Amino acid sequence: MPSFSHSKLTTYQQCPQKYKFRYIDEIPPPIRSIELHLGDSVHRALEKLYADAMHGRTHSCDEILSFYQQKWDEGYTPQMRIVRSGTTARTYLENGRRMLQTYHQRFYPFTQSRTLELEGKFLYPVSEKHEIRGVIDRLARTGDGSLEIHDYKTSRRLPDSSQVGSDTQLALYELALRHRWPGTRHISLIWHYLAFDEEIQITKTPQQLETIKQNTLGLIKRIESTTSFPTRVAPLCDWCEYKEICPAMVKC
Ligand code: SF4
Repeated sequence: MPSFSHSKLTTYQQCPQKYKFRYIDEIPPPIRSIELHLGDSVHRALEKLYADAMHGRTHSCDEILSFYQQKWDEGYTPQMRIVRSGTTARTYLENGRRMLQTYHQRFYPFTQSRTLELEGKFLYPVSEKHEIRGVIDRLARTGDGSLEIHDYKTSRRLPDSSQVGSDTQLALYELALRHRWPGTRHISLIWHYLAFDEEIQITKTPQQLETIKQNTLGLIKRIESTTSFPTRVAPLCDWCEYKEICPAMVKC
């Protein structure tokens, strides 16, 4: 059964040619961006923090920063692309350290909710013919029995309320959870914008979830029926892993 992740769907919306490179031609991204490496290293550190907390071990900030440094060193290569002028790999490394320090300070000793799963993978049959796949950074239960879907963002941009309201990523995750546990009453969707020490929390109504499901099915139908994958040049092209082989860029 064909499966789609949120990132696969948004790649198509961002640029059909990029979608074709990655998901149809299956060309491995020739370049890994420093932003991706930062995000991955911070996610691994937070995963470690909560995984050990689940077993009664609460890490100090220094311990988590040391684990973060280890993950950074393991994955870093000098070939990583750095787009923003005036920044170096060290800028990103330090940004990640600051994010983790602030998070640790704010949430220590990490008992606000009980962690159920970390980096939990799911496959959700959104229709009889299609599945949605994803990974939930942290799934937790609060004292009143509600579920929380936590997602960590390391981006430099803080979305406004309308962008948060129209985001579909965590809503798709909620649909998957409600399919898995149909009796669940309350689910909160929580984004942690780590660079801003900002936690944004929303809930979706059943009608909003149904609209997102139908829109997602419509988008999947569009993707499956298309035979044309035009380039869509935009400022984000500077961060595109396929820029070097993109026909629109070769002409420039
Ligand atoms: S460089 Fe821009 S136009 Fe080309 S594939 Fe990437 S996102 Fe699309």
